[in-house]
Amino acid sequence: MSKTAADLIALDETWSTHNYHPLPVVLAEADGAWVTDVDGKRYLDFLAGYSALNFGHRHPALVEAAVAQLGRLTLTSRAFHHDQLGLFCRELAELTGTEMVLPMNSGAEAVESAIKVARKWAYQVKGVPDGTAEIVVAGSNFHGRTTTIVSFSTDDTARADFGPFTPGFQVVKYGDAQALEAALSPRTAAVLIEPVQGEAGVLVPPAGYLREVRELCDANNTLLIVDEIQSGLARTGTLLASEHDGVRADLYTLGKALGGGIMPVSAVVGRRDVLGVLRPGEHGSTFGGNPLACAVGRAVIRLLATGEFQERSRTLGAHLHTRLGELVGHGVAEVRGRGLWAGVEIAPGGRTARELSETLMARGVLCKETHDTTLRIAPPLVIAKDDLDHGIDTIAAALAG
Ligand SMILES: *Cc1c(COP(=O)(O)O)cnc(C)c1O
Repeated sequence: MSKTAADLIALDETWSTHNYHPLPVVLAEADGAWVTDVDGKRYLDFLAGYSALNFGHRHPALVEAAVAQLGRLTLTSRAFHHDQLGLFCRELAELTGTEMVLPMNSGAEAVESAIKVARKWAYQVKGVPDGTAEIVVAGSNFHGRTTTIVSFSTDDTARADFGPFTPGFQVVKYGDAQALEAALSPRTAAVLIEPVQGEAGVLVPPAGYLREVRELCDANNTLLIVDEIQSGLARTGTLLASEHDGVRADLYTLGKALGGGIMPVSAVVGRRDVLGVLRPGEHGSTFGGNPLACAVGRAVIRLLATGEFQERSRTLGAHLHTRLGELVGHGVAEVRGRGLWAGVEIAPGGRTARELSETLMARGVLCKETHDTTLRIAPPLVIAKDDLDHGIDTIAAALAG
């Protein structure tokens, strides 16, 4: 007899490390914006793997590219060239208007790579005394889970008991350009920032902030690294969220949707004179830039180059924000976000965001809390307007009782 959902959850609980607290739903199949659990119940996906599924589940063009590559060549390591890497890098650079690409796998690896590149640039190009480079980051950031990255997290849960921490980071208040200016010094290699803080609750900084950050970086010969791993690749209605502020970074980190919901694909993209500081042997990854990842990434780039997904995020996102805005005062304290991405702040005295997520799950809509009082909504950009309305109706009904 096949295992029940309860059996499968029990297996996870017993054999899988308890580093997550998933909703008690066990998924078995998916298509587009819809997922199906092991009992055949369908749910609308209102989270899209935190933007890893921007194109929905099993987008036909992405699956086709993956299957075709599986029939040709999957892995070489970087000991040899292969016929997908250069094309992937050129196409990603052209899409993002950058000059060079450093392919990696996970988002955290891309951020780690950008940190290493910025430090080396500081020593070799800016002339910072060896071992003293600093990187300025924002409070309430989320850049991943490695020991160096949690070293500059301000989330106690992410940090406690994982020290000693990597030195060389300064944390300043997000959205406060004056605080940033005060933290810059001749030793500053880079400022690392999210254009919208997803994990913190979809926090959009004050208008003009990113532009001021850019100007401060220019005035201080400091690199600007923008982490677009969650915000980028059409999530906010533009290819990169930093476009809303008319800001160009020196380095961008990309991930999540770059893998098309199929496999981990990440990259640092940016200036040739910055990424160019790396020499053979100084950095790498066995799987980074593998043929399968490059083939899937190239198919993702083709989808993004049409502009269709940016457009869907803009129009559907405007609709989402209009409708969620109507819930303010009806169980909702505030709605933040951009495009098809929202942080819904539950009014004080209401349910916790976790309880609301569980209620929504029972009603067939999957999304997830971030912190106690924020519901994060990030539907796949392929979602049909009727389905989006169905999800919003379900949220409104759940808040009403
Ligand atoms: C998810 C995320 C990361 C880390 O990506 P992983 O693939 O989970 O390592 C880094 N930065 C941001 C902004 C993210 O949302």
